[in-house]
Amino acid sequence: MAYVVKEIFYTVQGEGGHAGRPAVFCRFSGCNLWSGREVDRASAVCRFCDTDFSGTDGPGGGRFASPDDLADAVRNAWPGSTAPNRRPFVVCTGGEPGLQLDPLLVRALHVRGFEIAVETNGTVPLVSGIDWVCVSPKAGTELAVRTGNELKLIFPQFGAEPKRYASLPFAEFFLQPMDGPRRVENTQRVLEYCLANPPWRVSLQAHKWLGIR
Ligand code: SF4
Repeated sequence: MAYVVKEIFYTVQGEGGHAGRPAVFCRFSGCNLWSGREVDRASAVCRFCDTDFSGTDGPGGGRFASPDDLADAVRNAWPGSTAPNRRPFVVCTGGEPGLQLDPLLVRALHVRGFEIAVETNGTVPLVSGIDWVCVSPKAGTELAVRTGNELKLIFPQFGAEPKRYASLPFAEFFLQPMDGPRRVENTQRVLEYCLANPPWRVSLQAHKWLGIR
């Protein structure tokens, strides 16, 4: 199977438990909760997406015929050394990365020294061996991935209230304000909720106000 990748780029993780950490982002094309086409947004399961995950036309994007080909492209996006004390970090995102991330790719990335994180909507079972699992639940879906390192909930979502997830066995719980015209109001609501309900923590999309991707 060929891997279909929108883009591969080096940046700083802006959100969640690894915020501030340099990482290669590998954005897989396609999602099971929306086609990515505006014409389908009103009928999509997930309607607030602000990510272009369609096609292969981003920087570094393309179709990769083998796990080694894709892992080499990720490696080439990481600057400098991959010495043990400078372990390279890749964030597999999308779209929904769980649709394409398979054991052979996990192995190929590990062989190149990468620590592998995934950012998933949690509706697709993940393969084993991923080093950091971040699940971002979406209203109207059932979680297939019910444990991990980080649960990062976009807030507010009617039908995906934090209480639904607070007892799941995740190491960390983040609330992240939904972007858009109500961002300021949503940020205030996130602040109030986290202050009243530890262990929920605030996640801000630092990459947006840093002006990076
Ligand atoms: S699940 Fe994620 S990638 Fe898919 S449509 Fe929703 S926000 Fe976008």
